[in-house]
Amino acid sequence: MAQNAKNTVPTKQNDQNRSYKKTPTALPDIQTLSALTTEPFVDTHTHLHYTLERLPNTFGIETFQDLKERYCPPNLEACINVLCDPLSFSSDEVFPGTYMDWKVMADTPFMYLSAGVHPHNAKDYNDYVEAQMLKILQHPKTVALGEIGLDYHYNNSPKDVQKQVLIRQIEQAKKLLKPIVIHTREAEEDTWDILTKYVPKDWKIHVHCFTDSPNFAKRLLDYFPNLYIGITGIITYGSAKNTQEVVRSIVPLNRILLETDAPYMTPGKLNRNKKSSDRITVSHSGMIPFIAQKIAEITKKDIDEIMRAARDNTRNMYGV
Ligand SMILES: [Zn+2]
Repeated sequence: MAQNAKNTVPTKQNDQNRSYKKTPTALPDIQTLSALTTEPFVDTHTHLHYTLERLPNTFGIETFQDLKERYCPPNLEACINVLCDPLSFSSDEVFPGTYMDWKVMADTPFMYLSAGVHPHNAKDYNDYVEAQMLKILQHPKTVALGEIGLDYHYNNSPKDVQKQVLIRQIEQAKKLLKPIVIHTREAEEDTWDILTKYVPKDWKIHVHCFTDSPNFAKRLLDYFPNLYIGITGIITYGSAKNTQEVVRSIVPLNRILLETDAPYMTPGKLNRNKKSSDRITVSHSGMIPFIAQKIAEITKKDIDEIMRAARDNTRNMYGV
């Protein structure tokens, strides 16, 4: 199937995509994050274990609960933490009892899980990795399979392998009746062909961190009635013309999900007028209101209306 035919146990050493470096960063205070809205919210796509891994020890954050209580506004209700590399599927054996351990994540009250092999890691997919992934998918806190998909921007795995691994995981999601989380970048035609061929029309689909063309968003929304478009902090960047246009004229409010994709894509406004030593370079779930604020600005609607719509959509998509 995938190139890696050996059923190896992933280890810290053979996982090249992991960064263990602490990143210099400031974090916004709770008042700043609470000022925009008091509507309850869910971060529908995040990797908070990487956020904790990157934060310097000086913050004294050792658990997900520490991060929530000390740095997130009280209206953060939940997050969906995404495990997308083979190493994280074995994290209960490799990093037992730490915030990298998926069982620790599942035991965290405000945290739900999604598990699937990212297209970057498709070359590492094998029967062993799949079995480890399926174990996590059996857990009652695991609400979806993903992120899975195609990424032709980086091509970290060969295109053919990416396609095979995507199809194989879609088949697993159908067996398990799990919603899917799709990562697609610069692969519109192949993503379209595979989704329309293998995924039932009424399936629940979250196309996360949407950055592709407005026309592609329209085709997806029209074809799949239960498909949602995920918007991250990228919408606040001047360069994100596609995403801004999708929000302005393509995606209706009842099809939007809010997500940070932390630790990446810190909303730009949080860094306005900040000196480099005060810059916020690591994001977390508490920053969602700044994404909603930008959507409100673009659509000329009230931020609370965006927040309420996204909260309803999260319930419909994930049952959370
Ligand atoms: Zn992600």
